[in-house]
Amino acid sequence: MNQAQLISAQWIWTGPGQLLRDHALLVREGHIAEVAPRSHFAGRNCSETHYSRHIITPGLINAHTHLELGYLHNQLPAGPFVPWVVQLMAKYPQADAMAATVHDAVTRGVIESLRGGVTCVGDITKQTPHARAALAGTPIRAVSFGELQAIGARRSLLDARLVTAVDGTHAESRLTIGVSPHAPYTVDGLALQDICNDTRCAEMPLCMHLAELPEEADFLRDLSGALRAPYDSIGTAWVLDDSVPRHPGGPIAWAKQFGLLNRIAPTLLAHVNYASDDDLAMLAANRNVAVVYCPRTRAFFGHDAVTPHRYREMLARGINVCLGTDSLASNPDLHLLREAQLLHQRDATPAETLLAMLTVQPARALGLHGLGTLTPTSSADVAVFEIDSTAHAVESLVANAPTATAVYINGTRVQA
Ligand SMILES: [Zn+2]
Repeated sequence: MNQAQLISAQWIWTGPGQLLRDHALLVREGHIAEVAPRSHFAGRNCSETHYSRHIITPGLINAHTHLELGYLHNQLPAGPFVPWVVQLMAKYPQADAMAATVHDAVTRGVIESLRGGVTCVGDITKQTPHARAALAGTPIRAVSFGELQAIGARRSLLDARLVTAVDGTHAESRLTIGVSPHAPYTVDGLALQDICNDTRCAEMPLCMHLAELPEEADFLRDLSGALRAPYDSIGTAWVLDDSVPRHPGGPIAWAKQFGLLNRIAPTLLAHVNYASDDDLAMLAANRNVAVVYCPRTRAFFGHDAVTPHRYREMLARGINVCLGTDSLASNPDLHLLREAQLLHQRDATPAETLLAMLTVQPARALGLHGLGTLTPTSSADVAVFEIDSTAHAVESLVANAPTATAVYINGTRVQA
């Protein structure tokens, strides 16, 4: 889009604390060139698209999802994690159906994301060639985290798995490559250390599921507890050999010991559902570390009945907390605003705080410069939502969680 255009609305939220009335964005060559009152642009020779009862926000960023698992929508029971993951493994598509299943799930997931105003996803994939090819065929922006497992007797497979996980064949300006060591019960400390020290990964965004489950502490201490069950159920407990380092201090201290919390590149910790005061202090020590809280998925697995998520204390300590949906295998939809809506209704968390957790905070967490705010030189990734014009615009947006009226990526409208 080379020709300059104006996108204007009753309200534009350009970033935290910046709600502008009757303003317009001047968009040129995919970027924001100017933000000013509509009257400022009178007489300019460029087209204007005006949204009269709407709020424009930066395109929303879903910091944690697995689009390829969309084929499991409504297929798995709510409740404890271990039975869920055993069923998930039993439902993997056959090898000859994998490419088509992943392509279909990713494509549908992108459409659903765009409908919710999401212009960028932090997407975890175990099927990297298929998922990245599918993402590259859509307009959405993505950080594609190649997921891998490497534990005990299978740690020797790490290097080959890393080659696949960080493969950049489909990388381009909209598709960034990241790496995702899966979780503390599938990647052991030595493998995690190798990933953190690997020169291919050192500057990449990294995402790991961490402190999602209370059972992680038992597994890390002596390979016992409920997280051993998936290995027993599929007959792979033999991989859990003496080479797996035992760690008594829980997953956050474990992650620190093996280098995950010392990275110089963006490091996202998915969930952190269980964290002590000492854990929060460790997370707050490195501003490259972010937490992704997935409220509806957390509720699906029953963690809210055990203890509330400490996201507000994390924010108060300066930890970068973002919101994510996680996958359709544990969430009813990919409509990111509904995660914020839940916290607004349940916890009375201010709408402004929540909107930052969908925009500027995930942009920083994923290492995406020029996204998450609408300021000159930002990419013109924009979402437009109809709001109740009698209410405060940001309040109305978060309270009602509407679908998007329009979405622009790099200044091009991609969804009606
Ligand atoms: Zn996940």
